[in-house]
Amino acid sequence: MHILKRPETEVEALAQALIDAKKQIGLCTVCFHLSAEQVCEICRHPQRDNKTICVVEDSRDVIALEKTREYKGKYHVLGGVISPMDGIGPEQLNIQALVKRVSQQKPEEVILAISPSIEGETTTLYVGQLLKPFTKVTRIAFGLPVGGELEYADEVTLARALEGRRELD
Ligand SMILES: [Zn+2]
Repeated sequence: MHILKRPETEVEALAQALIDAKKQIGLCTVCFHLSAEQVCEICRHPQRDNKTICVVEDSRDVIALEKTREYKGKYHVLGGVISPMDGIGPEQLNIQALVKRVSQQKPEEVILAISPSIEGETTTLYVGQLLKPFTKVTRIAFGLPVGGELEYADEVTLARALEGRRELD
């Protein structure tokens, strides 16, 4: 409805912008994040730490993690999670490229930041096993939402929060 009410020139400009974006944006050849260049901005950034690779499901996760401004390392986008029900096996994801990258670059740590769903869990365990021979593999802690109340959290979230506990600084 919003688009129908706009002048034709404006709608044409928007359509063109979408076509351009579709044509120009591909995947980074190193980390598989969305990129207009062969190698994305994060991979090319000279100040970013090469010793850590954070593995995520898709580019939206990279954008979400970038917003926190907490992480200064590199990324690797898997392009999904292992899901036999949907016909997605390890070979459909960017897992081989990750193993190759880790075995060659030898980062000090690989952080697995994959959703705690059943498929995400399977993917985390699978990828973790493949990477363990090359480096230290960690996973992000899952916990309680900020502003949430303990008694309203489901037991999986609560169990994860407990498991991901750390010593007070
Ligand atoms: Zn990249």
